[in-house]
Amino acid sequence: MSTQTGKIGVTTDNIFPVIKKFLYSDHEIFLRELVSNAVDATQKLKTLSSFGEFKGELGDVAVRVTIDPEAKTLTISDHGIGMTREDVDKYINQIAFSGAEEFLEKYKDTANSIIGHFGLGFYSAFMVAKKVEINTLSYKEGAQAVRWSCDGSPEYTLVDSDKTTRGTDIILYIDDENQKFLQQGEIDRLLKKYCRFLPVPVISGKKQEWKDGKYVDTDEDNVINATEPTWTKKPADLTDDDYLAFYHDLYPGQEDPLFWIHLNVDYPFNLTGILYFPKIKSNFEVTKNRIQLYCNQVYVTDSVEGVVPEFMMLLQGVIDSPDIPLNVSRSYLQADTAVKKISGYITKKVASRLDEIFRADRADFEKKWDDIKIFIQYGMLTDEKFCDAAMKFVLLKDSEGKYYTLDEYRTLIEGNQTDKSGDVVYLYATDPVAQYTYINDATSRGYSVLIMDGQLENHFIGLLENKIEKSRFVRVDSDVIDNLIAKEEKKQVDLSPMQRDMLTDIFRSQLPKVEKAEFLVNFEALSPEANPIVITQNEYMRRMKDMAAMQPGMSFYGELPDSYNLIVNTENPLVKRIITDASEKLTSKLQPVADEISANNAKTEQIRKDAPEGKLTETDNEQIRHLDERTAELRKEQSKAAEEYASGQPLVGQIIDIALLANGLLRGANLSQFIARSLSLL
Ligand code: ADP
Repeated sequence: MSTQTGKIGVTTDNIFPVIKKFLYSDHEIFLRELVSNAVDATQKLKTLSSFGEFKGELGDVAVRVTIDPEAKTLTISDHGIGMTREDVDKYINQIAFSGAEEFLEKYKDTANSIIGHFGLGFYSAFMVAKKVEINTLSYKEGAQAVRWSCDGSPEYTLVDSDKTTRGTDIILYIDDENQKFLQQGEIDRLLKKYCRFLPVPVISGKKQEWKDGKYVDTDEDNVINATEPTWTKKPADLTDDDYLAFYHDLYPGQEDPLFWIHLNVDYPFNLTGILYFPKIKSNFEVTKNRIQLYCNQVYVTDSVEGVVPEFMMLLQGVIDSPDIPLNVSRSYLQADTAVKKISGYITKKVASRLDEIFRADRADFEKKWDDIKIFIQYGMLTDEKFCDAAMKFVLLKDSEGKYYTLDEYRTLIEGNQTDKSGDVVYLYATDPVAQYTYINDATSRGYSVLIMDGQLENHFIGLLENKIEKSRFVRVDSDVIDNLIAKEEKKQVDLSPMQRDMLTDIFRSQLPKVEKAEFLVNFEALSPEANPIVITQNEYMRRMKDMAAMQPGMSFYGELPDSYNLIVNTENPLVKRIITDASEKLTSKLQPVADEISANNAKTEQIRKDAPEGKLTETDNEQIRHLDERTAELRKEQSKAAEEYASGQPLVGQIIDIALLANGLLRGANLSQFIARSLSLL
C-alpha cells in the first residue's frame, strides 16, 4: 500500500476558505453537485457497457444518500465507473483552473452559477464539511481501490483502500454550522428540489408509514426521483392524461392548464421540455409557479429570465438543455448567443404550435381565447418575431361574443366603418355593461363593436394601430357615433351667437356637481333620433389616464379630473323645444345684452387696430379695461337670466340627468333629486 500526500493543484494557497466564504449563501447546492457526479459516473458506465467496453454486470445502479448521525457523516454512494489513483490525481487533485480567488471575488454574487462550470462541483462539499473522503473502486479490470482524504487545507492524502464494490462513496464529515444536513427531512427536501427527475434512481432513507400515531420507517427504500420524466419521452407515446399528470406533479393544487407545447429539438442545439399555458388567476401564482430549468435532468433554477423570452415568464413547465450555459452568471447568460438562439427558437416553436392549435380546432381555441389572450398579447407587445407570427391567429371578440382574426375583422368592417379620410375605424368597448348604450347605438347603426376588456388592451390597441395600415381604434363612448366614423360633411349647428351663449348657460346651470368630473358643453346637429344629450370622453385623455394608472411616474395625468363632453343634439325634438321656448322667452331680454357685448368687442378691436404699431396708450388700456368689465357684467346678466329660465322648467335638468345616468355618473343626492323630479313629472 502506498501513501501519497500532496498539495491540491490550485494556484491560490487555500481555496477552501474562499469557497466557504463566498458560496455560503448557496451552500445547499453541494448535494446537487455530488449527486449529479454520482449520476454522471453511473451513466458513463452504462454507456461503456452498451458499447461493450464494460463487460461486467451493471447490477443495482441506484445512487444512495445516507446519513450516519453518530459519525456525523453524509455519504453519497454510486456504482458508477469509480476512479483509479490516476483518475483521482487528474480529476480531483488538479483543479483545472487558475486564479480561483480572484475569480470568486469577482463573481461572488453569482457563486451558485460558477460552481460546476469550472470543475469545482466536487469541492462544493467543503461548504458544509470539515473533512471529505473519497473511497472509490474503478470499473477497470484489476483496479486497486483508493481512499482520498482532505480536511479542508490544500493538503490531501491518497492511500489504497479495501473497497470491494465498484463505484464511489463520497463521505462528508459535516461541520458544526451545517448540522442540519444530517437531518433526513432536510436531505429529502434538497433531493426533491434538485434531483426529482434525475435519470438514475436516487435513494435516501426508507419509505415511511403511519403506525401507532406516528410515522415509522418501512423496509422499502425511499426513491426520490422519476427517472424518466415526461418531457424525455416521445410526444407520440404520451396521452393528454400523461401531460396533465406531469403538470399536477410539478405544480400541485393548480387547475388544469389550457394547453401545452412539447419541445424537442436536437439541432442546432439540444433542448427538450414541456411548456404549459396555465389558467392565470392571480399575480401571485405567476411568480410562484415558474418554468424550471434543467440541465440533463438536474434541476438548476427557476429564474429563467433571459433564457426564455420575457412573455413566456407567464408560462409553466420545464426546459432541459445541456447546451444552456447554466453555470454562469445571469448577465453572461443573457449575452450568450446560444441562449439568444434558444430563446428565439422557443418563441418560434410556441408561435407555430399556437397556430397549429388554432387551425386544427378553432372552436376549442376560441373557447380558451379569453384565458390565453393575455399570453398572446403580452408576447406580441414584447417580442417582434412572435408578434409577426401571431398576427395570423390573434383574435378579436365583438360585442356578440363572436371571434375574428385580424383579417376577418378587417373584411367585416371595411365596407361600413371607413371614414371619409379612408381610415377604417375599429370601435371598441372596455366595459360592455357600463358602455351598453353606446354599444347599442353603434350596433343599431350596423357597426361592430369589439370588447377589449383585458389588462393589456391599452398597449395592445396601440400596437395594432401601428401594425394595421389605415386603422384607428376609438372607444365607442369617446364621441358621438357620427363623429367617431365621420362619413360626409356633417350638418352645421343652426344657432345664433346669442342662442349659443344662452343655451350653454342654460345647460351648464342645470349640471349637477359630479365628483372628479368636468363637463364641457358642446352642440352638434346629430340625427333627430339620437339622444338629446350624449356624454363622451376624449379618447386621447382617457388613454393617457389609463396608462398613468398602470405606470408609476405618470401620476400627473392620473390626478386630473375626468373631462367629459356634454354634447347637446340640436336636432333632437326635445332640444328643439327648449331652443324655441327659451328663445321666445329670453330673446327680448338677451338680444340687447348680446348686442352690447358684441358692440363692446368691436370697440376693443378697433382700439387695438388704431394704436400705432400696436402700442396701446394708458388711455387705450383704461378704455379696454372698462369695456371688459362691462362685458363681464353683461355675461353675468345673461347667465342669470338663463339660469332663472332653466330652473323654472324641469326638461333641461331631466335630459342632462338621463345622460348622466346612462354613463353611471348620476349618484347620491343627484340621483335622488332625479328620481323625485321624474316622479313629479309623472
Ligand atoms: P465536474 O463534475 O464539473 O467535472 P467536479 O469537481 O464535480 O467537476 O468533478 C471533477 C471530476 O471528478 C469529474 O469530472 C469526474 O471525472 C470525477 N468525479 C467526481 N465525482 C465522481 C464520482 N462519483 N465517480 C466518478 N468520478 C467522479
